[in-house]
Amino acid sequence: MKVLLLYPKYPDTFWSYKHALSFIHKKASLPPLGLLTVSSMLPEVWEKKLVDLNVRELKDEDIENADMIMISAMIVQKDSVKEIVERVKDFDKLIVAGGPLFTSQYGEFPDIDCFVLNEGEITIPMFLHDLEKGDMKRIYKSDRRPDITKTPVPEWKLIKQKDYASMAIQVSRGCPFSCDFCDIIVMNGRVPRYKTPSQVITELDSLYYSGWRSAVFIVDDNFIGNRKKVKEILVEISKWMEQHNRPFCLSTEASITLADDIELVNLLKASNFSGVFVGIETPDEESLKECGKHQNTGKDLKEKVKLLQRNGLEVKGGFIIGFDTDNMHSFQKMIDFIQESGIVTAMVGLLHALPKTELYRRLLKDGRILSQATGNNTDSTLNFIPVIDKDTLVFGYNRVLHTIYSPKNYYRRLITYLDEYKEFAKGSKINLMIKIKAITKAVWIMGLSEKGRTHFWNMIFWTLFHKPELISEAITQSVYGYHYRRVMLNKAIS
Ligand code: SF4
Repeated sequence: MKVLLLYPKYPDTFWSYKHALSFIHKKASLPPLGLLTVSSMLPEVWEKKLVDLNVRELKDEDIENADMIMISAMIVQKDSVKEIVERVKDFDKLIVAGGPLFTSQYGEFPDIDCFVLNEGEITIPMFLHDLEKGDMKRIYKSDRRPDITKTPVPEWKLIKQKDYASMAIQVSRGCPFSCDFCDIIVMNGRVPRYKTPSQVITELDSLYYSGWRSAVFIVDDNFIGNRKKVKEILVEISKWMEQHNRPFCLSTEASITLADDIELVNLLKASNFSGVFVGIETPDEESLKECGKHQNTGKDLKEKVKLLQRNGLEVKGGFIIGFDTDNMHSFQKMIDFIQESGIVTAMVGLLHALPKTELYRRLLKDGRILSQATGNNTDSTLNFIPVIDKDTLVFGYNRVLHTIYSPKNYYRRLITYLDEYKEFAKGSKINLMIKIKAITKAVWIMGLSEKGRTHFWNMIFWTLFHKPELISEAITQSVYGYHYRRVMLNKAIS
């Protein structure tokens, strides 16, 4: 069997990092980890080829040479999936699909022959068993949560690692919290399941021996969902990092409760973590209670962020506008929080009611759902009727984006962050030659051509004078800022 694994294109969003990647000659930020793992679950004798449409084009001969096309996608890749299916259906190949998009919306894809849904460790063997017997069903699904200690190492050889800014691994699935807008707990459950420490080390080894020496993102829903287990794993990672001269800069996603546990923070430091994405959502206590984000209430969120920054973790923050308790003051409150906390990368999105979430159920019951979510919560669309006037909400949202991503506020925020931040992680996120070229291009664009260059130079001179050791971090963050301005401001204005 010859199988073609297809990964659809991402739109130009906050997460695509498209405009920043051009500085470092990379084509995509992360590889398609799900498909690489699925590939390892397929029979060894199958011939496998992977085309990630984010790094190269799909050629007719790729399709002609395959017996089966396998597509994996998230909701945000829906448009690209539709284009792919339209194209490949004329080739009369077996089309099989899986991943979050299809798990929630498979009914929208009549031209796909078979859906292998939910977690692949359960449904892929079911599919393979029936395929071999010549009795393939249209849909394979299961509510069972697999033990991921048996999940194989991703098949790295199917990609060119140099196309990507970072590699990715998964250590756990699931999150113990119950934020009502979150579809992760719908897909992966509320009991975190972890790989074993030795399994995680095997995955790091696999990347190390494939030649990779750069950033590695741990794609977990909430890396610290079970603190006891994650500490056991981190003890092993920290030893491995020491033995291998810290070849990877790690980052992940975690709840703000990380800042309550200094032992855990120290273990992250020892394991060469340089950053963490945290769902802050809103500085407003009432809105946090409304969405069930109780783990963020009753604490000084700004101080928690700064504690992480002082311990060498750049905090990227997720923020949401559009809760029922939001009001006319919420916009300025959010701007002030983001500026004062020094969260340089603040991913501010409009609330989206994702299928099967508690939020979706509540809004559906109240007759407030308007359409399916696009999966891109920064495109200024709403799929439900908000409490405050829709135009006021979208206008206020756009004002937040314009304010925080204006060069003046972005570089001011960057200074606030650099002032607090201490760098502990060793090893470069990118190689030296690429770094030099990126710096030259950054200076040319942000320092000489772009509007707001005075603010760029103010920030650069501040860094050289106060924290010269962070000049590389200052330029990296400036490049991200360029990407955010291109993506967010253009979309918000239109
Ligand atoms: S903490 Fe994050 S992953 Fe966990 S339920 Fe809330 S939004 Fe979802």
